[in-house]
Amino acid sequence: MGINNEDKNGFLGMFSLDRRKFLRSAVAGAGAVALPVMALGADEKKAGEFKEPAQNLRIKDEVDVIVCGAGPAGVSAAITAARAGARTQLLEIHGCLGGVWTAGLLTYIFDFNKPGLTKELKEKLDQRDARRNKIADQFVYHPDEMKLLLEEMCAEAGVKFRLHTRVAAAYKDKKQLTTVITESKSGREAWKAKVFIDATGDGDLGAQAGNKWEIGQGGDTCPCQPLTLNTLAVVKDPAALKQYISFYANEGDNKNWHVPAVKAFAKEIERAGISPSYGMPTLFLIRENLVMIMVNHEYNIKAFDADEITEATVRARAEVYSIVRGLNKLGGPWEGMQIVATPEQIGIRDGRRIEGRYVVSKEDLVVGARHADAVVRPTFGVDIHASDRKTNEVETISRGGIKMIPYDIPLRALIAKDVDGLMMAGRCISGDFTAHASYRVTGNAVAMGEAAGAVAAIAAKSNRMPHEVEWSEAAQLLSKLGMRS
Ligand SMILES: Cc1cc2nc3c(=O)[nH]c(=O)nc-3n(C[C@H](O)[C@H](O)[C@H](O)COP(=O)(O)OP(=O)(O)OC[C@H]3O[C@@H](n4cnc5c(N)ncnc54)[C@H](O)[C@@H]3O)c2cc1C
Repeated sequence: MGINNEDKNGFLGMFSLDRRKFLRSAVAGAGAVALPVMALGADEKKAGEFKEPAQNLRIKDEVDVIVCGAGPAGVSAAITAARAGARTQLLEIHGCLGGVWTAGLLTYIFDFNKPGLTKELKEKLDQRDARRNKIADQFVYHPDEMKLLLEEMCAEAGVKFRLHTRVAAAYKDKKQLTTVITESKSGREAWKAKVFIDATGDGDLGAQAGNKWEIGQGGDTCPCQPLTLNTLAVVKDPAALKQYISFYANEGDNKNWHVPAVKAFAKEIERAGISPSYGMPTLFLIRENLVMIMVNHEYNIKAFDADEITEATVRARAEVYSIVRGLNKLGGPWEGMQIVATPEQIGIRDGRRIEGRYVVSKEDLVVGARHADAVVRPTFGVDIHASDRKTNEVETISRGGIKMIPYDIPLRALIAKDVDGLMMAGRCISGDFTAHASYRVTGNAVAMGEAAGAVAAIAAKSNRMPHEVEWSEAAQLLSKLGMRS
């Protein structure tokens, strides 16, 4: 595939010929290596295919609840299920818990003014002095402190967690999901459970289990929301940059400090001769002289296409470095700004949405839908980042043409439609493009994780399927655990 970002303002000019060659050879190289291997395979079905020999796998463990993916939704689901007394296994591909909070270096949280784990996380981050902005429902935290905190909380709850482990396949007995297969340094392993929760963000497990899904504006391909590579940097004197830092002031009503700061920061990047691919480049102060920079967009990348994600990551890293180097050359307050870390995982807004027993829709947001089995009421508005660079220049973020009224997400949207024993939590739940653009933020992901964890624990311990559990039972359990008022 080609490089699809425009070379409008010198960004790809900076992307030297050598680097372009590297990108092409990196992707072409995968095919070039695979071909001779396939030619040698005795079992290949036809040209271009290799038939993998069947093998018996060791059953690594058999538990009540398996949670796949340890982002905000997954860790919340696992902690809740374990606190409810379920034997719980959490499987995560990266080397830390937290997903976009940590591996994605997010640092800023929306829709977090809720009871339960959100309240606990806030208090625990404060005890560590790892949280800066104290606006009730939004704040900035230190992502590495978050890694440690989540490990401690999972261990304390009795969650067994395995890092560096990818969920690669899923198997059913008739309609019921019974087994997932993982790949890791320990090879391929089988894991069994009574109930599974897909918290992979991209809906990997639901798709592997054969449940219907869609991405972007429907179907199985983009247009979809762009990717962003959040980056940590240090600066010499944050006070000298305060007009460019969103919510710089740490007290009082500073909610209006975002747009003016973004506009001023964008002007500085333009002054450095670069037009960033994200029209609302943002700087957050995390603590002392540590900042997070959010300056790029990678357009129309499918979350489950490894070649596309690889190219997007390499391009994004080059763009972020180019912007920081450009700012450095301006001197003044930008002198000495240095990148500390780009993330392990480029940030993905739009992945698969697994179809459930209810699909949260744009209409729900318009009318402020109410449901008896409501697990959370999102208050965050529709946030659709432009799906291409041209649109980005006219309207970087769209509100989907509606005014959102806080609406309910029913438990049914967390329960898979086609596969029994499978729930979803976080951004891969059942919803349409516009609704997803509102509920996907991490405060809601945590609440959905708590709900899925409670229902999964009840179902597993009473030998029922999640769809046979009443929400009132789970709500009662959450209250008993002190996670609902
Ligand atoms: C650039 C960007 C900026 C954003 N800004 C904000 C913001 O300011 N505030 C906010 O609250 N939200 C923000 N969001 C939205 C929010 O981050 C996500 O929607 C949120 O991450 C949802 O949480 P999750 O747990 O569902 O998914 P994720 O955080 O994506 O977690 C999924 C986890 O599953 C793991 N995983 C995936 N596939 C597998 C597999 N096959 N096997 C094992 N593990 C797997 C991943 O490694 C990851 O740890 C932003 C998102 C992006 C991308």
